Amino acid sequence: MKRREDGGSPAIDLFRLAAAILVTAIHTSPLAALTPIGEFFLTSVLARLAVPFFFMTSGFFTVTRYARDRRALWAFEKRTALMYLLATLLYLPVNIRNGYFSRPGLAWELIRDILFDGTFYHLWYLPAAALGAAIAWALIRKTDYPCAFAVTGALGLVCLFGDSWFGAAPQAAGPFYSAVFRVMDRTRGGVFMAPLYFVLGAALRDTKRRPSRRVSAWGFMVTLVLMTGEALTVAALGWARYYTVYLTLPACSFFLFALLLTVRGGRVRWARSAALALYIVHPLAIIAVRAAARALGLWGTLVDNSAVHFLAVCALSAAASFPAAAIFERLRPKRAPSSTGRAWRELDIPALEYNVRALGALMPPDCSLMAVVKANAYGHGDFEVSRELDRLGVRAWAVATVDEGAALRSFGVHGQILVLGYTPPERAWELRRHRLTQTVISEEYAKRLDSAGVKLRVHLKLDTGMHRLGVPWDDIQAAAGVFALKRLRVTGVYTHLSCSELRDGNSREETLKQDRRFRAALRGLEERGLAVPPCHIQSTYGFLNYPELSRGFIRAGLGIYGVLSSPDESTTLSPDLRPVLSVRARVALVRSVPEGEGVGYGGPFRTPGARRIAILPVGYADGVPRTLSGGTGYVLLHGRKAPVVGAVCMDQMAVDVTDIPEAAPGDAATLMGRDGEETLSAPTVAALAGTITNELLSRLGARLPTVLHD
Ligand SMILES: *Cc1c(COP(=O)(O)O)cnc(C)c1O
Repeated sequence: MKRREDGGSPAIDLFRLAAAILVTAIHTSPLAALTPIGEFFLTSVLARLAVPFFFMTSGFFTVTRYARDRRALWAFEKRTALMYLLATLLYLPVNIRNGYFSRPGLAWELIRDILFDGTFYHLWYLPAAALGAAIAWALIRKTDYPCAFAVTGALGLVCLFGDSWFGAAPQAAGPFYSAVFRVMDRTRGGVFMAPLYFVLGAALRDTKRRPSRRVSAWGFMVTLVLMTGEALTVAALGWARYYTVYLTLPACSFFLFALLLTVRGGRVRWARSAALALYIVHPLAIIAVRAAARALGLWGTLVDNSAVHFLAVCALSAAASFPAAAIFERLRPKRAPSSTGRAWRELDIPALEYNVRALGALMPPDCSLMAVVKANAYGHGDFEVSRELDRLGVRAWAVATVDEGAALRSFGVHGQILVLGYTPPERAWELRRHRLTQTVISEEYAKRLDSAGVKLRVHLKLDTGMHRLGVPWDDIQAAAGVFALKRLRVTGVYTHLSCSELRDGNSREETLKQDRRFRAALRGLEERGLAVPPCHIQSTYGFLNYPELSRGFIRAGLGIYGVLSSPDESTTLSPDLRPVLSVRARVALVRSVPEGEGVGYGGPFRTPGARRIAILPVGYADGVPRTLSGGTGYVLLHGRKAPVVGAVCMDQMAVDVTDIPEAAPGDAATLMGRDGEETLSAPTVAALAGTITNELLSRLGARLPTVLHD
């Protein structure tokens, strides 16, 4: 298993350098003197993939449907603005020499240049990237991909008809383009070209179904041929104002990017700064090579020979930019590799996918999964879990509170979110604002919710024997009353089983009784002429032990996390679910404690002999139950059991490693999960701690950082 940072690929990083060199080729025409058609292919077709590739790369790493906040976008905007400022200063002397500041209408020109055309020829890329990222982000987060593609695709067409298809632009668009060209020289700048590529990059990051290497390779080759044909055609028809974009360019860029993504491996971080630096300085290198050629009387060799000129510019650009990039990479604060420095949780993403598929395979066809992600997704991390499940296609969610629902919505998940618990009616507007579905827990509650004055979707909960929340099953009058309320729309009816964990005679009888009562209530509603919406009755155990009771949704929590309530349980259906979560902590120090000493807070514990004790920097504030104290629980270290010594403290605990001589500071101890041949499962830890898996998991501290495994 590999640690996943951001899903990138070394090929993406390295291709940035190639792309920067392709841009240099556009500005030096390396094959001009050798083969005109080769030159056309290189600089008017192939090299045109470079800028879209840069945009897609930034989109891939910055823009996403799923985000906790806007931090990634802001960081990108700040970095781009800083680069723009530095590059502008770098080219200031050249601009001054060219008489930039003595032109008429300078103020207007300045605004145009800063926003759209770039403060120097090629620098248009930077403001376009800043705008493109912001537009793509807003569209994807606020409206989702179909709309984002439609809008940015339309902008892309505006760019196309102002560029290589200019001659084919509809007559009616004439005034529009005159207006556009008053604000910018070319339609590649500003809002027209970049957003589409940012959306494409983001889509490739967010999807679970990227094209395979084969499909990408074929797609790339075919679209490249098509693009060459298109370029030749617009040239022959005399349409082209420029050769920057083509109708086939988005598809060709997409397949190229997808193809590069199929190369797995570690990131090559220096390449990204080096490529950007190369891009920024290459025009300076062109100026320098020309100046040197003039000074040395080598114009014929260094400039007229276009291939040598190109190579000289590349060499000089690299010589100037690579050391700068190396210094920049050194100065840059290293992204802390410390998420595994103290204590952390690990999520096995393939296990999560497997569990969802395994449960799905057992469900009847008209039944779907409602993923229960309350309590920080049972301590697994609600953001990470809901993002992965949404990418897998889960479209129904259950949470306990309105705040959990709002958080889930802000992460970018699709579909309905059901709040299982009580929400104060005065917060009804928040339910509405975040498009949450509220559970109706009693008739009186429904009336109060209705009088809050906002239209809401609700699921009606019926109490069939649990006697916790819900309208009594035999009070059809009350249940029907909820349907009659003006502002509440009942989009589901459900109940909760109280004994479905067990299969003994009494539990079975109780469960079947609840089901009978539920059906009787539904019949009662139907007899009153009400259209009964989708119903649900089972949680994980209800489904695994009583699959014949399945209805519209299975509300599964434990099942998707791949654990049961207690160890060695058997269920009627027993898909071999895989645990998703591991919890680990680093050994902070190992010490020898002589016989008869205490360890930790002054309890009765005394070492029975000389012991070696390892201190783990994790405690009950992280969710390690205090009831594991004093030898009740253990952790795994080097694949062996190390019993807990003394009391588990808030932030520390001690384990006995006398029999694990190789234990040393920095070792990863497993508090839950697999270590070598040994597994310490969540149900086992829960049983040792005298509780059930749900309680153990849901109390896992928010203090633990999360590491994902692909
Ligand atoms: C928590 C909860 C579930 C999920 O139960 P699991 O046993 O984790 O599958 C289902 N329904 C309701 C009403 C719940 O509160």
